[in-house]
Amino acid sequence: MAVDGPSTAFAGGGGAVNGDLRELLGTLRAFAIPMRTKFRGITVRAGALIQGPAGWGEFSPFAEYGPRESARWLASAIESATVPWPAPVRDRVPVNVTVPAVGPERAFEIVAASGCRTAKVKVAEPGQAEAEDVDRVAAVRDALGPGGRIRVDANGGWDVPVAARMLRELGRYSLEYAEQPCATLEELATLRRLVDIPVAADESIRKAEDPLRVRAAGAADIVMVKVQPLGGVRPALRVAEACGLPVVVSSAVDSSVGLAAGVALAAALPELPYACGLATMSLLAGDVTGEPLTERGGELPVRRPAVDPGELARWE
Ligand SMILES: [Mg+2]
Repeated sequence: MAVDGPSTAFAGGGGAVNGDLRELLGTLRAFAIPMRTKFRGITVRAGALIQGPAGWGEFSPFAEYGPRESARWLASAIESATVPWPAPVRDRVPVNVTVPAVGPERAFEIVAASGCRTAKVKVAEPGQAEAEDVDRVAAVRDALGPGGRIRVDANGGWDVPVAARMLRELGRYSLEYAEQPCATLEELATLRRLVDIPVAADESIRKAEDPLRVRAAGAADIVMVKVQPLGGVRPALRVAEACGLPVVVSSAVDSSVGLAAGVALAAALPELPYACGLATMSLLAGDVTGEPLTERGGELPVRRPAVDPGELARWE
């Protein structure tokens, strides 16, 4: 089991340390919170929280993940519970609003109702026509005006010729970057030579070594980074530093406990040139705190919300 940082002692240590881990896991509380919008095919976000001397940590790998992958998510929860996060260099984190593969009127409403100046627009939805992507992005540009930023996220849904054609077409609305336009590193590297719009890698990054592979392959200009899959805030900071590409911190649709770790990472990065994908609290129908980390004015405050026993019990 490969885990980084302070959690190594817990994961691989001797009897006394395993005793500490047992104590920590003894605090574990499972939760299942319904989602307002279906996401990644799930309608309920399930996970667990553990409490240690530094606070609460979230462990919420997706159900299809095996033990090896889930171990990093657990290492992240252990880090949050046992060691303080790195000192922040900013006290607010800019975030983007996410526009699902909806019609143009709804897309306009979602952006207009949010305080965000950056919108991430889902494109390449299976079963939809290319014109629907164009209409959606056009509506988002109308809602934001010329000063707002638009990024599109294809979730690897295009091949290289389609991606090149669509990005040229969508480029008329001025895009800050295209997130995972194609599935493989080879395709992303080829596409980058064909279009001027920066490419961001998301699904290509699941492990600590992936950002370095993305960079070595010339596959992206920007990398998306999530705290839990990388094993914690400090491991994620090390990955960002080693990779050397600009990073966009995003959530795994966590509760406010997991989101706070993402905010801590975004707050500790030396440079934060892009709005983060951490405004995901609105996807969940509830939270484990009375003070959810919800977006206001296009930003999240850098703070760690207290877990409310009543709220936690409600979703347990
Ligand atoms: Mg994405």
